[in-house]
Amino acid sequence: MNLLIMGAPGTGKGTMSNIITKEFEVVHVSTGDMLRASIANGSPVGLEAQNYMTSGKLVPDSIIHDIIVERLGQKDMDAGFLMDGYPRTLEQAKDLSLILDEVGKKIDLVINLYVDDEVLKERITGRRLCKKCGAIYHTKNSPAKVEGICDVCGSELYTRKDDTLESLVTRLNEYYGNTKPVLDYYKEQNLVVEINADQAVEAVFAEVAKAIESVKHD
Ligand code: ADP
Ligand code: ZN
Repeated sequence: MNLLIMGAPGTGKGTMSNIITKEFEVVHVSTGDMLRASIANGSPVGLEAQNYMTSGKLVPDSIIHDIIVERLGQKDMDAGFLMDGYPRTLEQAKDLSLILDEVGKKIDLVINLYVDDEVLKERITGRRLCKKCGAIYHTKNSPAKVEGICDVCGSELYTRKDDTLESLVTRLNEYYGNTKPVLDYYKEQNLVVEINADQAVEAVFAEVAKAIESVKHD
């Protein structure tokens, strides 16, 4: 089973992805996480991507193409995948269709999370992440028990460089300009399920799980 999860920044793709990969047999593929790992390693891809990411702009399609081709070529992908934050442009979506065709795979479901922009601003500017295990917190909505320390593993929490109001405005513009057309592309293929993500995490997951069950095949 191959899934995509879409939605503007702050809709909760990362949170949902963490739960989905625990409950269903799919491997989480996040281009954002892969790019941040490249930056942390100081690799050439990271150096190129860094400025785009900090300002909230999309990283060029050619870079994304290369990292996706490499990732999809790895053996663990055969179990099924959950793509998070990719594809983000129509170009990337068409590219993915070609790549999947070549290896005889297809997308079974596109989960689209939607939330009002005002709520997104709140969520993004309060977001804190664990350096080590990636657990996600919010200063008001889901604070860590001890400020600045991860409940799960005890490591330090940090704020993503692009989680500023300024960068978020750019990210939302990129989303509405470039990523909305991707959603329409998948709607034409009848692959999209729309989920209201302005609800408690458990309620959102309940709807997501129902949609996944309906396309599941073993
Ligand atoms: P969010 O969805 O919350 O904005 P991500 O971690 O998915 O967070 O992405 C962070 C940044 O990484 C984006 O703003 C963009 O610069 C870059 N990025 C991630 N995935 C892609 C992609 N598929 N195409 C272009 N840029 C990407
Ligand atoms: Zn942690």
